[in-house]
Amino acid sequence: MKSVFDLSENEMKSYGYKIVDAIVNHYKTLEDKKPITSASREEMDATFLTEAPEESSKPEDVLDFVLDNVIPYSNITAHPKMYSFVPGPSNFISAMSDSIATGFNIFSGGWMVSPAAAELEIVTMNWLLKIFGFPIKKGGGIFTSGGSMANLTAIVTARRIKCGDDFSKAIIYLSDQAHSSNIKAIRVLGFKKEQIRILPTDIDFKLSINKLKNEIAKDRLLGLHPFCFIASAGTTNTGTVDPLHEIADICEEENLWFHIDGAYGGAAILSKKGKKVLNGIDRADSLTVDPHKWFYQPYEIGCLLVKDASWLSNTFSEKPEYLRDIEGNESEINFYDYGIQLTRRFRALKFYMSIKTYGLDAFRKAITYNIELAERVEKMLRKSKNWEIISPATLAVINFRYNPIHLNFSEKELDTLNQEISKRILASKEALLVTTVLSGQIVLRMCLINAKTSIEDVKDTLKLCKHFAKKILTEKT
Ligand SMILES: *Cc1c(COP(=O)(O)O)cnc(C)c1O
Repeated sequence: MKSVFDLSENEMKSYGYKIVDAIVNHYKTLEDKKPITSASREEMDATFLTEAPEESSKPEDVLDFVLDNVIPYSNITAHPKMYSFVPGPSNFISAMSDSIATGFNIFSGGWMVSPAAAELEIVTMNWLLKIFGFPIKKGGGIFTSGGSMANLTAIVTARRIKCGDDFSKAIIYLSDQAHSSNIKAIRVLGFKKEQIRILPTDIDFKLSINKLKNEIAKDRLLGLHPFCFIASAGTTNTGTVDPLHEIADICEEENLWFHIDGAYGGAAILSKKGKKVLNGIDRADSLTVDPHKWFYQPYEIGCLLVKDASWLSNTFSEKPEYLRDIEGNESEINFYDYGIQLTRRFRALKFYMSIKTYGLDAFRKAITYNIELAERVEKMLRKSKNWEIISPATLAVINFRYNPIHLNFSEKELDTLNQEISKRILASKEALLVTTVLSGQIVLRMCLINAKTSIEDVKDTLKLCKHFAKKILTEKT
């Protein structure tokens, strides 16, 4: 029977091909475009705001309208001059894989509905467990919508395993450089403010071990229950990795759950340099990585790995343990038992297809290139008398500011100057380069995880920064 939603074969084909053409054209031309776009709410409303129409339109008319009006008003996250936040370089194979997952609308919740989808999640999870040095037989994990959901899933699990039902005295620790999604997750879970310890970092933005030890001791004296520490393996701000081995030792001694948020930096383990910096990451009980960042995947795919898969099923499975035997083969995992979602899109597919297609070595090369690119930028900036490095190139992130030493600017003047440089860069739409605040200073932050960004791109952007800086300074005088 034909439904109201059906199109003819030819209509579907021409519609689909047009979309493929548009995406391919995007990949082919993105470097020629400016990465930034902007629009006010009024402008967007003027284009889009309508009542839901009762009557139909021609499919191609709606498609054309979207290609003409939605795409140009979205920043190009894969643009080589997209330096801010965490860029989304993505890749074509995964983008197409996502359209298979959606086109066939594959349910990735339970084994029975889609055994192959569950199997691919098991297989790709095994790849990740091996990459991060987690036990493959006992360990496990799950793909989530992103790092935020992976962190939330981790903290629920930590609380379940370490505290059971009573978490009234439970205390959780993290550093002031930990990603905001962790605090959000802690809040979602209903912890009170008094149960959260945000520990200061030292001058290089790493957790200060002594402060952690002292806080735990203090809390124990008060009869409280320290249960979890959240470390950062690549902070979003500076790429800094907390002292993982020392934290792991403390967590072992104190019986704390050790969660590592490697959403930003985790993927760096594929490169030699990254592996060194991330030494100790395999000692975590749970680890967040975010393939839609530095594994070059399109949104959305995050991931949580755990040392013992039964921690996840004991937290999220709603079946009583004694019914497990009649639930079918235990090895045939129902991923709805491993996390919060029941209905899940087939995220494993893009990860699987892109790694099968390009090979892990391509990822290693791209990540190594990104790390070395940031180091080259640092070297270049250090040679100039106009630039000051605020945090050195670490896992492809570098923070710096315009500071011509001979002009003896005050801190306040430097803050204003660098803020203004960023503002003008944004207004030019030539690059996305925004500021962050480090130790109270307003600085420019570059996150160089796009394999298409060249040193020439960076030089171009720095030249433009310098051009604006000079202009700002002459306007002032
Ligand atoms: C980006 C990021 C997150 C949040 O991940 P989303 O995918 O944006 O939800 C968490 N932690 C760190 C360190 C991040 O860089």
